[in-house]
Amino acid sequence: MTAQILDGRDNAKTMRAEINEAVAAFKENTGITPTIAVVRAGEDPGSVWYANAIKKTMAGRGMDAQLHVLPETASEEEIVTLVAALNADPGIHGIMIQEPLPKGIDEAAVKGALSPSKDVDGVHEVNAGRLALAAPVGRPPGVGAFFVPATPAGGMELMRRHGIEFSGKNAVIIGRSPIVGKPMALLLMRENATVSVCHSRTRDLPGVCREADILCVAVGRAEMVKGDWIKPGAVVIDFGVNDVEGKMVGDVAYDEAAQVAGMITPVPGGTGPMTNIMLCLNLLEAARQQAG
Ligand code: NDP
Repeated sequence: MTAQILDGRDNAKTMRAEINEAVAAFKENTGITPTIAVVRAGEDPGSVWYANAIKKTMAGRGMDAQLHVLPETASEEEIVTLVAALNADPGIHGIMIQEPLPKGIDEAAVKGALSPSKDVDGVHEVNAGRLALAAPVGRPPGVGAFFVPATPAGGMELMRRHGIEFSGKNAVIIGRSPIVGKPMALLLMRENATVSVCHSRTRDLPGVCREADILCVAVGRAEMVKGDWIKPGAVVIDFGVNDVEGKMVGDVAYDEAAQVAGMITPVPGGTGPMTNIMLCLNLLEAARQQAG
């Protein structure tokens, strides 16, 4: 068997066109340009690259991104003061705080300073809490509106657009970080999958993975998941981004996994291109909500 590729680049291209239309219509109706503020302290190279990528993606959609860069020596108070000013600025509809923050800064305090209605990255406890409390799809949600972190939201959207059904499926997630693994597990549970979450203490990880109809991997260990961990015909979603001698590889050993899986995301070109697209959608939604 050779797996069907879940092509994130292709999907992102289709979605870019859809978002461009939706943004143009929103701007025509309201006169508002959805604008995200990206906050960084210091010059971490990955963060600098990502901020520039966000700026380019937003510009291509007719939206705006403002970069707010503080020095590496910025105090927690200075960062929180900047976030508070952006919360109060009606011209800013979404705020993203880039990590890593400088050593000694309490990340929870900085994220907690965000206005939940501008937290387009879904990191504030109100948004994370509402995702955790929200009822399964098809039932009244029981909570207010919330934003979902862009990476797991992108993984879900990629599967949805390939007609993958979730209800009653066995889903296994490797990784339980607040930004990828945990929200992915909650999203799949909301879609009525039966979800197992694995982590560094999980016993017999290959055995658990072999039960998965849908296997999502967010670990950060190059090619950790082998072909014989995968149930024949399974859907494999690889969030991993690892640099191996200058080459980007995922957390799944792609070549062998693709011989067993039914569908698989490549790295690069799978979940990665979906992340910025979902951030665009979250920003547009935030601007809509703030416009009433
Ligand atoms: P974290 O380091 O925050 O979390 C890693 C998770 O993997 C933890 O839950 C950890 O377990 C678990 N883990 C580590 N080693 C093992 C092991 N040997 N067996 C089983 N579980 C293990 O990473 P992130 O969630 O932030 O990122 C995961 C990957 O996704 C990275 O490669 C990152 O670069 C990538 N990423 C991709 C994005 C995209 O747009 N595609 C965006 C964000 C991240 P424990 O909890 O026990 O420590």
